[in-house]
Amino acid sequence: MKKRLAILGSTGSIGTQALGVVDAHPELFDVEILSAHSNADLLIEQSQKYKPNAVVVTNENAYEKVKKALNNTDIKVFSGANALCDVVQWDTVDMVLAAIVGFAGLHSTIAAIDAGKQVAIANKETLVVAGEIVMQKAKEKNILPLPVDSEHSALFQCMIGEHLDSVEKVILTASGGPFLGKKTNFLVNVKKDHALQHPNWVMGAKITIDSATLMNKGLEMIEAKWLFDLQNDQIDVVIHPQSIIHSLVQFKDGSLKAQMGLPDMKLPIQYALAFPQRLNNDFKRFDFKDFPKLNFEQPDYKTFRNLALAKDAMYKGGNATCVLNAANEVVVHGFLQNKVGFLEMNDIIERALNDVAFIEKPTLQDLEETDAATRRLTESLLKGSQLYN
Ligand code: NAD
Ligand code: MG
Repeated sequence: MKKRLAILGSTGSIGTQALGVVDAHPELFDVEILSAHSNADLLIEQSQKYKPNAVVVTNENAYEKVKKALNNTDIKVFSGANALCDVVQWDTVDMVLAAIVGFAGLHSTIAAIDAGKQVAIANKETLVVAGEIVMQKAKEKNILPLPVDSEHSALFQCMIGEHLDSVEKVILTASGGPFLGKKTNFLVNVKKDHALQHPNWVMGAKITIDSATLMNKGLEMIEAKWLFDLQNDQIDVVIHPQSIIHSLVQFKDGSLKAQMGLPDMKLPIQYALAFPQRLNNDFKRFDFKDFPKLNFEQPDYKTFRNLALAKDAMYKGGNATCVLNAANEVVVHGFLQNKVGFLEMNDIIERALNDVAFIEKPTLQDLEETDAATRRLTESLLKGSQLYN
């Protein structure tokens, strides 16, 4: 029987690549639900091609456009974030791919888990904000959330067939982004066009900026903690500019397992969608002749302070990682509008981490409030930037 998919965030970088995986294996997958925020045109095009049962549009203007365009079809069109939480629970959905960016993906992911659906999680912010709650709910429902992030897919692939208590530590690899080796005197003047040029991966704008500041790797440390039930000191990062080794697991006998391949997100997406099967594909293969050297170095925590801030928030726990995430979402949005400097983003996130009230054991409601309070504070801090206008 085909796996019926709800692809949340279908117009994004992960969403469109997931549909590419569906195209290559129409015998395995049916598209049941698609969702998008504001890219009405692409959602309409996808709807006409995949004929899902329903689509959800979260932006009001885009909703009107999609609704009109799909008027003469059988496709149901819903608007708003609550609709996302409804459709993922439908009986006709087998698996939910959480590929919305940011905190906005939290509730629909939880709704899918509450309904006992298989979930493939690309939306790392969900795990950064509420990893403990999400994984607890998954455990109660006997669900194994499947990672889509390439590093976590690598860790997952290395851990298959192992006892989790034989894991000594995990080592996340980081490309280092476009500013690897740069110092603060250079970074202070960096603008979005430069920061958006990632050397190895083509991704959505937010994660591309996060990769340039190394916040992405910090978020991924927290993501790994919850996905694999690790202690903070079991999570390391190493810079590996070629992005061939996607991450490593070190076991208690000292043995290291790595998962390797060319950097192509379609691979971890396909792996998660088809799990536990491995599917054929025609993706370009790795060739040692093209990569005579693989390099590794230690991350520069002093220059790329976001990585240190994320690590501190991970150790602090509670709602600190929610504050980190919300402040980061706001400053990245500001940076993409040229309203704040590259290094100022660190300062503002640090201020938010210091100023928002700490809650040791937050409920979902507490996290909602923490997110909102942090956004308000960060917005006001942003206005202090010389670039803000
Ligand atoms: P993207 O910006 O390309 O796409 C985001 C998707 O989410 C779009 O479909 C958009 O319509 C939807 N969306 C945006 N705001 C929304 C809102 N408020 N409510 C509902 N939907 C909304 O992002 P992306 O690069 O595809 O990343 C998606 C997630 O996957 C992120 O959490 C990212 O960290 C993670 N991820 C991405 C990559 C990658 O290669 N792109 C790799 C690893 C992990
Ligand atoms: Mg990643």
